[in-house]
Amino acid sequence: MVDIHDIRNINQTVLLHLIREQQPISRSEIAKITGLRPGTISSIVNRLIRKNVIYEGAEGPSSGGRKPTYLYINGENAYVLAIDIGVHETVYAVSDFNGRILKQKAIVTEGKPQEFLKKLAAEIEKTIKTDYPRVNFAGVGVSVPGLIRRETGEVAVSPNLEWNNLPVKTILEKHLELPVYVENDANAAAFSELWYGPLDEIKVKTLLYILVVDGLGTGLIINGELHVGSQIGLGGFGHMCIEPNGEVCSCGRKGCWETLASESATIARYHRLMNNKNDSIATSITDIIAQANRGDEKAIASLKATAEYLGEGIASLAHGLSPEIIVIGGDIATAWNLIGPIIKGKVKSRYLIPSVAKIDIRPASVQHPSLFGAIPIALQNFF
Ligand SMILES: [Zn+2]
Repeated sequence: MVDIHDIRNINQTVLLHLIREQQPISRSEIAKITGLRPGTISSIVNRLIRKNVIYEGAEGPSSGGRKPTYLYINGENAYVLAIDIGVHETVYAVSDFNGRILKQKAIVTEGKPQEFLKKLAAEIEKTIKTDYPRVNFAGVGVSVPGLIRRETGEVAVSPNLEWNNLPVKTILEKHLELPVYVENDANAAAFSELWYGPLDEIKVKTLLYILVVDGLGTGLIINGELHVGSQIGLGGFGHMCIEPNGEVCSCGRKGCWETLASESATIARYHRLMNNKNDSIATSITDIIAQANRGDEKAIASLKATAEYLGEGIASLAHGLSPEIIVIGGDIATAWNLIGPIIKGKVKSRYLIPSVAKIDIRPASVQHPSLFGAIPIALQNFF
């Protein structure tokens, strides 16, 4: 069989996560925990051993038959670079195969996109030369808020970044001389759950991820595969219309979910409630959450309204997709005490039969999901 791995298939990421958390672990234990067929496990394990990512160690005690060998992660074999391109700030990080972030740096996202990417590559090169001169890097995962042409690694369009037809992969590969894999930020965020989420969810087949950042994106795993749709990066719900006569969105249409439930929507709402005509006054979502925690009623109200809209959109999606788990990520998830009950209540109230709405709705496992998710994106493609 040809050794091509499809980005959509999540089994490898799930399996690596399990080995990392439970090592040493035998193949039969993996089968028991994941429910995957022994043949599937063998083919992934053999590939990972060939790539020197995992290795077989001492034999374990026999339970009658052949003694099992244990599997370990070869954490130091190579490192991975993760890049999260955000509207205001771009963060890059160095991680080992054990999933630990060893270094993290940020630069301002600014200027012409081509020039910006060159500057970013130069910064990363400097960091590698200074801090990791002898390290072997396996690849680079890049998370971008926009529609991606997955085969070529181009950003087809990013309304929030105002980037169009930008060959991100080509530019970064030329300067970094490493394989670069570009993915939509919400898809990367969904991968961050597979890579860092609770192990008892490893058998979950359908997971919906709502990434609330400047915009709003969704990543969807259906039946153990990342849903990428039939065309470029389609499959996100951030631009589904919630209010036909609502505000104009970054995409040019009116009333998209993102105009009501994103960070920018929450900040704009807060400004309106403050009667603040000057939107340029710097307020971030974390400022608003801090204000809410201090009892600021306008901050609380703007977050609550966002939670209502999140719940509204999620309810529609949940009805159609019936996922086992819905994860909400981004800084807004740190206000879970405030928004969680509203979202859950809204979803429940919208169900045709409320008693069957047994969906686990929870905050994300990591606080910077689009960055952390770029790590498994690089690994997923590399193997
Ligand atoms: Zn839109």
